[in-house]
Amino acid sequence: MKIDRIETFLLESPIDEPFGWSQGWAESRSALICKLTTDTGIEGWGECSGAPSQSVIHDCFAPLLLGRDPSNINALWHHLHHSLHNDNLAGGFGGGALSSIDIALWDIAGKGSGKPLVDLLGGPVRDRVAVYATGLYYREDPGYAQLIAEAQSYVEDGYKGMKTKIGGLSVAEDVERVAAIRGAIGDSRFLMVDANKAYSVSTAIDIGKRLEGLNIHWFEEPVIANDVDGYLKVKAGQPLALAGGEVWYNRFDARDFIVRRAIDIAQPDARFIGGISEFRDVAASANAMGLQVNPHVWGSSIMIAASISLTATFAPCPYARTPRPYAQEPVMEFDQTPNPIRNDLASQPFEANKGYVAIPDGPGLGIQIDETVLERLCIHKRESRS
Ligand code: CA
Repeated sequence: MKIDRIETFLLESPIDEPFGWSQGWAESRSALICKLTTDTGIEGWGECSGAPSQSVIHDCFAPLLLGRDPSNINALWHHLHHSLHNDNLAGGFGGGALSSIDIALWDIAGKGSGKPLVDLLGGPVRDRVAVYATGLYYREDPGYAQLIAEAQSYVEDGYKGMKTKIGGLSVAEDVERVAAIRGAIGDSRFLMVDANKAYSVSTAIDIGKRLEGLNIHWFEEPVIANDVDGYLKVKAGQPLALAGGEVWYNRFDARDFIVRRAIDIAQPDARFIGGISEFRDVAASANAMGLQVNPHVWGSSIMIAASISLTATFAPCPYARTPRPYAQEPVMEFDQTPNPIRNDLASQPFEANKGYVAIPDGPGLGIQIDETVLERLCIHKRESRS
């Protein structure tokens, strides 16, 4: 079996209602979808983001992939990774490009063998995966009515936890906003806050202390993403557990955070960390240091399928006779923001049932891509053939 064709689709979709966080304001959603086709007609799907990743896939990777056997994922991964390493392109858009190829190769391996991804990874250690609702972003209307209604809708849907944004307002205003959410959902739900790197160390320590009474389960990305010592200072200076890692691009980005325990919860994203292969190894390293791994997921059904299958295989951390989500069981991010790409690209979108999602059981990623949606949302397609 050989890789015969590589196609990429840069997708963009408008959304009905814009939303914001500390670093940006979304008025549309986008994704880069990658499709590998073998000479035997098997199609593997992967995903990352951004036009520069599209260039890496076709201009750098295509000559190394076309005509090669897709079944040796390890050899191809390291070959692609090191093709970029000397030019310092193995992170960023290069790391995203590698991630998308890796995910597509696993999809091909599953479809070729008739096995779901979770079985290729050695099988699940739980029969469903706990998820938390990511939403509660900033909106054009600064009032709390819409925010509170959204938070209460997650409670009614059965989510045991949800995550909101901080860092977009003053510290005092953000604390008041988080308090409004806590007041609306009661004390029995987990609530997390995400600053998206908006703070200095001192400001992060300040807001962490002020949020203490609101029973915040984790404080995500308090300071700039690669500042290990900054994380350690924030960890020592305030009471909340720290989470981070969504922009790690490989084990080398993750290494110091894990070894030095600069975080309490690791959140790699399979779109960036190097796909399924590298995520699995980084997750094992994090587990060895007692860090829970709760995957960051902000992509389409391709990423949701890959992330559920990975999460299903993570050992409880720490181990327990009856492991519980948030305490020992991993909880995967389940994005609730407007995103037609996420909702429409697969024939059947993923849905949570009382805070859990089912593990895909079809071959490979276990999803069917609706190619009419792919063509409709595509703003730039590229193709490479052997
Ligand atoms: Ca985040």
